[in-house]
Amino acid sequence: MYIFVVTDAEIFKVETRTGQSVGFDFGLKNFLTSSDGKIISSPLFFNKNSKLIARACKNLSHKQKDSNNRQKAKISLARIYKKSSNQRKDFHFKLARKLCLEYEKIFIEDLNLKAMQKLWGKKISNLAFGEFVKILKYQAEKFGVEVSEVDRFFASSQICNQCGEKNPEVKDLKIREWICPKCGTKHDRDINAAKNILKFGLRHRPMQEIE
Ligand SMILES: [Zn+2]
Repeated sequence: MYIFVVTDAEIFKVETRTGQSVGFDFGLKNFLTSSDGKIISSPLFFNKNSKLIARACKNLSHKQKDSNNRQKAKISLARIYKKSSNQRKDFHFKLARKLCLEYEKIFIEDLNLKAMQKLWGKKISNLAFGEFVKILKYQAEKFGVEVSEVDRFFASSQICNQCGEKNPEVKDLKIREWICPKCGTKHDRDINAAKNILKFGLRHRPMQEIE
């Protein structure tokens, strides 16, 4: 007896429409901010699901060992996990596809995810930037889009994208808008960072890729 498995794994390339390059900044409140000023907020269900999971965990911890109720609580928690993970994946896939149709070259920060998890704990893992980057790269390959990560040690938030002045005061995460002390340009924190990621990415691409 033979079993034939047919998979739909053909890699297709489509021409991107704009040929534009873009830089993206990742954030907590705004999932992505682009160098051309677009903001993609974190979906509300991210937050809602993490509350549901916390509640289900608490519920499970109150049940007696080896009881039927404990078994029920376990199943309920697993269901919420699964649903939450599916919703997140769906959001990531749709967003990655949209970006790949819109841009030809995408620059993102090379986030040291482990270090960030240590710093911000649960929030970051919920937002699952790492998971999104993986999906984005996968989609990019299908669409013939280039995704590059720029050096994570480059201070994208503190540098004025107009004149290159570094303003260490912007280190403070509470500062959402600032005026460059050198050239007077008014900046939105995240858009300025995204613009720097784009600039830095374009400047530091390997020589053979520069047309
Ligand atoms: Zn400036």
